Amino acid sequence: MTSTLIRDIPTANTATHDYDVVIMGAGFAGLCQARHLMLNVPNLKVALVDPRPVERGDKDLKIGESTIEIAALFLSKELGLYEYLVENHVPKIGLNFHWPKAADQTEKLSDYYHIWSNRQVSIPAFQMNRAKLERDLLKMDQEMGVEFYNGRVKDVDLTPGDEIKRVNVKCKGEEIILTCKHVIDAAGRNFIIGRKKDNVLSGPENLLGLNNASAWVRVRGVDRSIFHDGYDPNNSTTSHYYATNHYFGHGHWLWMIPIDSKSMEVSIGMMHHHDQLPSEEVNTQDKFLNFLKNNHTVLYNLIESGETIDFNYRPKVAHKSKEMFSSDNWYVIGDAAYIFDAFYSYGTSTVALAIESVTEIIRSKVAKEPEAEEKRDSFNKFNLIFALTVNYLYRDHGKQLGHASVMSWRIYWEYMWWFGMMVPMYVGKWHIDQTFISIFLGINKKIDGMFAHVNEQFNELVEKDANLGLMDCYRADQLIWGYYTPKQFDNYLANTKLEPLHCNVFACIKNTCFFVAVWYTKFLWKGFGLKGLLNPKNLYYLLVLVGFTIQSAIGELVYKFKTRGLSHNSQISQMREEFKGYQYKPSLQSWMTEFASQSQSMKSEEQPAKDYAFK
Ligand SMILES: Cc1cc2nc3c(=O)[nH]c(=O)nc-3n(C[C@H](O)[C@H](O)[C@H](O)COP(=O)(O)OP(=O)(O)OC[C@H]3O[C@@H](n4cnc5c(N)ncnc54)[C@H](O)[C@@H]3O)c2cc1C
Repeated sequence: MTSTLIRDIPTANTATHDYDVVIMGAGFAGLCQARHLMLNVPNLKVALVDPRPVERGDKDLKIGESTIEIAALFLSKELGLYEYLVENHVPKIGLNFHWPKAADQTEKLSDYYHIWSNRQVSIPAFQMNRAKLERDLLKMDQEMGVEFYNGRVKDVDLTPGDEIKRVNVKCKGEEIILTCKHVIDAAGRNFIIGRKKDNVLSGPENLLGLNNASAWVRVRGVDRSIFHDGYDPNNSTTSHYYATNHYFGHGHWLWMIPIDSKSMEVSIGMMHHHDQLPSEEVNTQDKFLNFLKNNHTVLYNLIESGETIDFNYRPKVAHKSKEMFSSDNWYVIGDAAYIFDAFYSYGTSTVALAIESVTEIIRSKVAKEPEAEEKRDSFNKFNLIFALTVNYLYRDHGKQLGHASVMSWRIYWEYMWWFGMMVPMYVGKWHIDQTFISIFLGINKKIDGMFAHVNEQFNELVEKDANLGLMDCYRADQLIWGYYTPKQFDNYLANTKLEPLHCNVFACIKNTCFFVAVWYTKFLWKGFGLKGLLNPKNLYYLLVLVGFTIQSAIGELVYKFKTRGLSHNSQISQMREEFKGYQYKPSLQSWMTEFASQSQSMKSEEQPAKDYAFK
């Protein structure tokens, strides 16, 4: 990388203080937003502000290492970082889930029931070393022309509409002012805009009852074989270690994420629910380790095999925002906007969706497109509703996490929506298509009630300690017709339908709703018997799913009609077009004559040296 520019204190002749966009906070969200803007909006002047040192120290732990499909595609495809990730970070082969067979015996992995990610995933993902990623991304951003101020935002003047905004920054003791048309709060839990606008909602009453906390350690030099020796020839074609491993118990779940393969560094942490597992029992390193020793001995032994680098405790994890993208040209993204829980590693994927929305709003506003404000409104609604769907994922987790059977059914059900709807929606860029957004909002309005209802049924099954079997989201032998949750219903990967609106999301939703209906029928039968199947409310939701299947089938036909003649991938079709003129010519370019004349001239140059040698 070439040398970069850090603006401690800009002087009149080195920098102007006027920008199109000022991004407050250079963590994952701010850095990715800056790169995405630079890649997509030509000639944009972008400033990034963050007080942390540019060269990040060893103790500079950042949480949020594991990526799932949307974040992985965003980083590798949208930001063009695939090679960088392969060379600098650790691969991630899906998520594994483990429940102890008996609470008092957790020393070995064989003491657990498992759902293994049993093969290579179709969209490659990574476990990021966040400090390294952020350090490197900052350099890349600067090379693209982003100006970095190594200082702290003290205040921001959120003027109405398109009026210029002023951002007050303290840089090495000096106050400076950056002016801009658009200001993005990516400063995480500092809530710069959130506080000014009273925009943040927290507390279980605002978060579908969610009241969770987190404790975690980072450990170096672990003995991986304590987890698994890597030999599992009959059960998997891939690594168990290079996955995000989730462990469960009453009122909590734990993650185990490898973040460096040379130093054998892992991040091990727990999300717990205050109503089931109070803070004061796990909020120090000793208490946390003791908890593990008694409840997940295998993880305790893994930690003890290495050197613990640090311990962190966050007593309150979840919050959300009332608004994300304002008509006054301010935006909140990343942790500044919302987070609920780390289960499934959704965080960076939600950031990716918000970033792409913000870039498109700013691009449209800079280009003075008449529909820019309408877009802003639509994207704001989409991201807020998407946040709500993420909140659904953790409703009543505290009650359900430890119940292996119910939780495995819940994971299966949530995976169906993720792979069947969210991933294709992202691949096709439908999340920044206003027509699709209104369909999505409509679907969500109806499905909202169903998610709440199914959740109540999960609770009921936990209360009566039902055993519906262990449902494995990766396997194709549990529903009908060889279905498994990551199955694709459009050949968007095989035919690289990666351009906006090329992936047929309606076909994916149609099939997903159908298989969810099959899943729900099986779930009702196993959990509640005939009475459950005939219950009017359950029948109503089955009909809702059938209705969605039919509506999406019509949507699929309309989409096919509208896109008839559209190539799957325009680069490929252009190459195929060019290829029509291809003719095989069994010839090679001549190189011997050139070689002969080159060696002749080399000989004549060498002559004097030879003469000298003979003297
Ligand atoms: C326990 C836990 C585990 C998680 N695990 C995962 C996971 O495995 N996968 C996943 O995808 N997500 C995970 N997440 C979510 C993930 O951590 C977040 O989505 C992500 O870190 C958000 O990044 P950010 O840039 O918004 O915030 P941050 O990374 O916190 O960055 C904010 C930046 O703003 C800067 N800043 C603060 N104040 C100011 C100021 N006044 N002026 C200028 N700059 C300022 C800070 O220095 C910092 O650099 C997890 C979250 C938690 C709580």
